[in-house]
Amino acid sequence: MITPAGLPEGIEQVAVWSVPMRTRFRGIDVRDGVLVRGPAGWGEFSPFWDYGTVESRRWWVAAAESALTGWPAPVRDRVPVNVTVPAVDAERAHAIVAESGCRTAKVKVAEPGQTPADDLARVEAVRDALGPAGAVRVDANAAWDVDAAVARIRELDRVGLEYVEQPCATLDELAALRRRVDVRVAADEVVRRADDPLAVDLRAACDVVVLKVQPLGGVRAALRVAEAHGLPCVVSSALESSVGIAAGVALAAALPELPFACGLATVALLSGDVTDAPLLPVDGALPVRAVAPDRLASVAAAPDVTGRWTGRLTAVLAA
Ligand SMILES: [Mg+2]
Repeated sequence: MITPAGLPEGIEQVAVWSVPMRTRFRGIDVRDGVLVRGPAGWGEFSPFWDYGTVESRRWWVAAAESALTGWPAPVRDRVPVNVTVPAVDAERAHAIVAESGCRTAKVKVAEPGQTPADDLARVEAVRDALGPAGAVRVDANAAWDVDAAVARIRELDRVGLEYVEQPCATLDELAALRRRVDVRVAADEVVRRADDPLAVDLRAACDVVVLKVQPLGGVRAALRVAEAHGLPCVVSSALESSVGIAAGVALAAALPELPFACGLATVALLSGDVTDAPLLPVDGALPVRAVAPDRLASVAAAPDVTGRWTGRLTAVLAA
């Protein structure tokens, strides 16, 4: 148990976890974070290490909501999810999708150091594994300019794309791209890294909004973002442990409409979890339920990592 200064009343337990990734993802080899327990249950605070103190503040608000307040009532008891395919080779991509049981796959593309041919081979393998009835979506994490995005999307759409997530960085680029391609555009970074996710004008820029609980400051805050934009929403994870994923599932379960599979099956990307009952998909869906971390001792972070998280949380609480 660590006890950062400034911890709000009601937080009864704080633990730091660390787990290696199965495959490097988003430039990350090890995932770590803080879990907190309060009267409403467990919450997760795990901003990526490239997030500063101010931007991490919303991640803490999300953790505090889970532990102290709890979540709105669900309107469904299971949430369809996609399998997430890292920037692996085609053979591995095929196996990941085939083993997942999911009918939708989200494929990472535009990985630094890889070629458009690598992306096409991966996406074709995923389509082959899903069959014609499955849905394939790609995420470029803002890597392309508009011309590159047009060329890459037209090529990848040979397999039939459900949507392309954050192909370019800015709202103007996304709007320009949308006038030139038929594939739906989903907005992720442009929403969750905005100073005010409610105020971003998405009307010309996207067809779908990606919601993430921690970056948006909690389940209720994300529901307000969904309501403000009035667009179809997909709930995705921030590569959390099952404790953080449970908050994402709670958000997906509370949305009035859920037209697409959610990106919440990412515990499969971790080599371990904080619980013996991880939130992994069965028949392409996750159950709506809370998670208690019963494996904290097995995934406890080393003292230096614990010290870094204590300092980080202390700074965020003081911000
Ligand atoms: Mg994304």
